[in-house]
Amino acid sequence: MTNEHITTTLQSIKAYAEQHHVPIMEDQGIDSLLQLLRDQQPKTVLEIGAAIGFSAIKVAEALPDCHIDTIERDDERFDKAVEFIKKAGLDNQIRIFHADALEFELKELGPSYDAIFIDAAKGQYDRFFEKYGLLLAEGGILYCDNMKMHGLAEQEISEVPKRKRTMIRNIKQFREKMMAHPDFDTSLLSAGDGIMVCKKK
Ligand code: SAH
Ligand code: MG
Repeated sequence: MTNEHITTTLQSIKAYAEQHHVPIMEDQGIDSLLQLLRDQQPKTVLEIGAAIGFSAIKVAEALPDCHIDTIERDDERFDKAVEFIKKAGLDNQIRIFHADALEFELKELGPSYDAIFIDAAKGQYDRFFEKYGLLLAEGGILYCDNMKMHGLAEQEISEVPKRKRTMIRNIKQFREKMMAHPDFDTSLLSAGDGIMVCKKK
C-alpha cells in the first residue's frame, strides 16, 4: 500500500535537506518515533518544528487515519514544506501553520491532541511544553527529539563549548523536570539523537 506520490516526495525532501543543510530526523530516529506512534495510534498529532515537512509526512504515511497539525517559523522552510505536503497529496491530512510557536495563538489549534512532538529550538523545550502541554489529551504522549544533542547533552557542562552551554543546560534541566514530573511517566530512548517519551497520566 505504498503511495508513489509520498515515496517520490520523500526522496526529493531528503535530497533538498542534504543540499540545504536542513536538520530533518535521521532514519533511526524517525523509525523509532513511528514505531512508538504505531503503538499509540493517536488520532491527532501536533508537531512543533516542521522544517520542510519530512517528519510530518512520515507520520501521515504511517498513520493514515491521523490528522497532523505542524508549525514552522522559517519562511523558506515553510514554503518548501507546503510544496512537499501538496506534492505528497497530504494537504488534507496535514495542516501547517507559518508562525513562531512561542507567539502563536492556541485558539488556532486543538482543542486537544493525542500526541505532541517537539522538534524545534533546542533551548526552548520547556517553554514549548509549558505552552502546548495544555493541549495534550489525558493519556496523551509528548515526544521530544534531540535529547542527546549529538552527545553534547551527555557531557559535563564544563566540557561543552561555551556558546552551547545555555542550550545544553536547558535540555538537561528539561529532561530532569520531566523525569520528576508527577503528571507524566517519562522515559528516555537512545534511538537516533535521543527521544524523550512523556506519557500524561
Ligand atoms: N521535524 C523536522 C525537523 C525540524 S528542524 C523533521 O524531522 O523533518 C527544527 C525546525 O524548528 C527548524 O526548521 C526551525 O526553523 C523550527 N523552529 C525552531 N524554533 C521554532 C519556533 N519557536 N517556532 C516554530 N518553528 C521553530
Ligand atoms: Mg530533530
